Amino acid sequence: MRIVPLLLMLALAQTAPTHPAPPTAREIAPDTYLVPGAMLPERGPDGNSVILVAPEGLIVIDTGRHPWHSDGILAFARDRRLPVSVIVNTHWHLDHASGNGRVKAAHPNAEVYTTRAVDRALASGGFLARNVAAARERPPEASAIRREEVDLFLATMQTSDALRPDVPIEQSGTRRLAGRPLSLRIAADAVTDADLWLYDEATRVAVIGDLVTLPAPFFETACPARWQAALDEVWATPFRIAVPGHGSPMTRADFDTYRKAFGAFRSCVSGDTPGAQCAAAWARDVGPLLVTDADRRQATDYAGYYVDFLRKNGGASPDCRVK
Ligand SMILES: [Zn+2]
Repeated sequence: MRIVPLLLMLALAQTAPTHPAPPTAREIAPDTYLVPGAMLPERGPDGNSVILVAPEGLIVIDTGRHPWHSDGILAFARDRRLPVSVIVNTHWHLDHASGNGRVKAAHPNAEVYTTRAVDRALASGGFLARNVAAARERPPEASAIRREEVDLFLATMQTSDALRPDVPIEQSGTRRLAGRPLSLRIAADAVTDADLWLYDEATRVAVIGDLVTLPAPFFETACPARWQAALDEVWATPFRIAVPGHGSPMTRADFDTYRKAFGAFRSCVSGDTPGAQCAAAWARDVGPLLVTDADRRQATDYAGYYVDFLRKNGGASPDCRVK
């Protein structure tokens, strides 16, 4: 009688997807730590997190998508015996904000600072609301990993209040977060309709979310023209290190390589050069920033996809309010 459940358990154990170890924080500047994101096969990405040690606790900038990513953040707080006082979301994309709920569960006093863009994404007809409807219609033949990803997305959406700001950021300016002064900058109509990026004058670190992503920019909710202007605004600060949403921390030269490649890609998309040529040019232009052959292949593939996506939608995403 007991053998059937045992066999069933063994079968389940064999098909259950394995999870990677939590990422480890590394210091990139005084009191400034990077918890690196990742992109794994079949899974949605995790964006980078940055943790700042502040006089009144930790400031966590972006919380990733998967539980193992937020486990890396929580382990850092536990090791330091410090509370998370502030969560900053650079934007509402779920590879940067899904971990809010888990971090808040462990640190109930943590307050989320972000723009109101997430409210619009969650509202009826908004990007996230539309994706919930699509996710519920997932194909039954989806792999175990894909099913796990969809379940994670739906669970995050069920507790979507954790994505909303406790402290909405409506304008750019310097604020004290957990006792540490930081310049918070709003980039309107860039990656989303209101992104947030940070500049820390003390360390000259800029944390810029998905204004920079490697191997290619993610245009799903983007207004490319204002996005380019936002890259110029970042460039105008005297930053020393820029932490992108995906990829390694950048020097000024790295950032400028990306900024120029972004401009060239935009003008290629707006002309009538064949898409494959725009994609190849993108991969060539950001070549110095790509590490592996897989990165180079993906850079071309993603850029090729986005040429079509942008051209089909008049040069910007369908969610962009200012074309
Ligand atoms: Zn991202």
